[in-house]
Amino acid sequence: MKVVNRDGSVSELSDPAAALEVLRHSTSHLMALAVTQLYPEVHLGIGPATSEGFYYDFQTPHRFTEEDLGRIEQKMNELRSSDLPFEPSIVSKDEAIRFFAGAGEYLKTELIQEKDGQVLSFFRLGTLTDFCTGPHVVSTSNLGVFKLLSVAGSYWRGDEKREQLQRIYGTAFFTEAELADYLHRMEEAKKRDHRRLGRELDLFTIREEVAPGLIFWHPKGAAVRIVIEDFLRQELTRAGYVFVYTPHIAKSDLWKISGHWDYYRENMYTLPVDDEDYVLKPMNCPGHIMIYQSTRRSYRELPMRIAEFGTVYRYEKSGTLHGMLRVRGFTQDDAHIFCQPEQVLSEVVQTLDLADHVLKSFGFDRFQVELSAWDPAHPENYAGKPEDWGTAEATLVHALEQKGWPYTRHEGEASFYGPKIDIKLIDALGRPWQLSTFQFDFNLPARFNVTYAGSDSREHQAIMIHRALLGSMERFMGVLVEHYAGAFPVWLAPTQAVILPISDRHHGYAREVEKHLKDAAIRVESDLRNEKVGYKIREHQLQKVPFMLVVGDQEANNRTVSVRNRFEGDKGAIALDQVVELIRNLARTKAVRP
Ligand SMILES: [Zn+2]
Ligand SMILES: [Zn+2]
Repeated sequence: MKVVNRDGSVSELSDPAAALEVLRHSTSHLMALAVTQLYPEVHLGIGPATSEGFYYDFQTPHRFTEEDLGRIEQKMNELRSSDLPFEPSIVSKDEAIRFFAGAGEYLKTELIQEKDGQVLSFFRLGTLTDFCTGPHVVSTSNLGVFKLLSVAGSYWRGDEKREQLQRIYGTAFFTEAELADYLHRMEEAKKRDHRRLGRELDLFTIREEVAPGLIFWHPKGAAVRIVIEDFLRQELTRAGYVFVYTPHIAKSDLWKISGHWDYYRENMYTLPVDDEDYVLKPMNCPGHIMIYQSTRRSYRELPMRIAEFGTVYRYEKSGTLHGMLRVRGFTQDDAHIFCQPEQVLSEVVQTLDLADHVLKSFGFDRFQVELSAWDPAHPENYAGKPEDWGTAEATLVHALEQKGWPYTRHEGEASFYGPKIDIKLIDALGRPWQLSTFQFDFNLPARFNVTYAGSDSREHQAIMIHRALLGSMERFMGVLVEHYAGAFPVWLAPTQAVILPISDRHHGYAREVEKHLKDAAIRVESDLRNEKVGYKIREHQLQKVPFMLVVGDQEANNRTVSVRNRFEGDKGAIALDQVVELIRNLARTKAVRP
């Protein structure tokens, strides 16, 4: 793709991702041009490309509606067909301020005033002059296909105390086929939205008025979570982990040692107790260190793998909260491994094996693996010694090679305290979700002086690793709901079977069947409401209950049930014991269907 740069030169862009970004960013200029022509009173905010498309922020008393989006889109198409060029120019900062202040664009002026350099670049498109670094497509006839998607409220610079703006979202692609595919996936994602399904399936709610960003797990959501936790507890115990519980609040002293008090304060909830500052824990690591340090540790006790379903609280801006995926309180399937340097490789391999096994058990078999390394040119930005970073990164690479997993390496992406491996799973709609992580820490062991007595009887600093498999219960639940569109596999389904008696006189047999299934540890309910069976079937089908067991005279006489499953419909009469066997078998094998 040909692009025009800020200095006026034209060059070729061959990287498809970069080209798409330029295409989308250029389309956002076209949208701003159309909006300023249709609504001359608007003030412009910013208009970047995003991973999904682009947006532009506008300040205006007019409230944009769905119909307005159609009008704007039509205007954009008109403007595009007149083949307008993107015209760059370099201007001085003073000149730029004069231009935008003169045009009444006070938001733009504010941004320019904060710029460091003495010059910046303008791009003119028709009657719209915007400042940005480009590059852009050469002219509007080089734009692809686009669609405006929605409008939402936003704040200038994401700050609730500043001007309220309206953000118009759109997307753009090179071809019609790509756009159609994207819109189809959006439609599918909307149907699977965990916030909507969470309400419809009675899994959880968020009560904005009393607890924004915090989750109330209803009985059905809790039933799923209990299955997940029991499964993890069993797998981790088998893998040599020990489980602990740690306090939810602790004195600020603990967080001063860990460094969070100084560097993470704006995300922490603090509360005064007896004239002292206490902190609601944002992380479980210091608590696990307290347990590790409760006695002198010998090399013979290592590796020590301390696990906790640890509930943590982190302040997030209200604008960033999103259902179960971005919350202010969540329970991590957290663990910390304390070990000797020579034990690290087998610990990484064990963690990768565990993540592989656990994620596959939940029906996910496509992963993206990322290794985040440090930037060796700037050792001053990192905790720990350069040789420790070298060894740690080499160990992570070695483990990934041993596992035979392809991965991408990201230089300079590691956090300041250590390199890490992240595993993202790919869901049914092809979306990546960051869940599992294995992370070295060169910082906390030094700050807390975490040691063990070696075979030489001397104290050595322990290696500390943070690791999570699912990330958090909330986020994982959100991902599960969207991946399965609410139709959980039998082993996870909150209600695995529901019994539907045809009339009142079958209630006795229905209760008998219910007891039989409950004794076999199947999560079952009887629906004894005075409604037609057809009505109840439709309702439980919408609730995505795996099995509906209809009982009438024949079934009671023959000790059978008429089985319907949510994917295959009517399966006919089956003996009671066989049904128990069928459901237990699907649960035991963690089958995804039916
Ligand atoms: Zn631009
Ligand atoms: Zn940790």
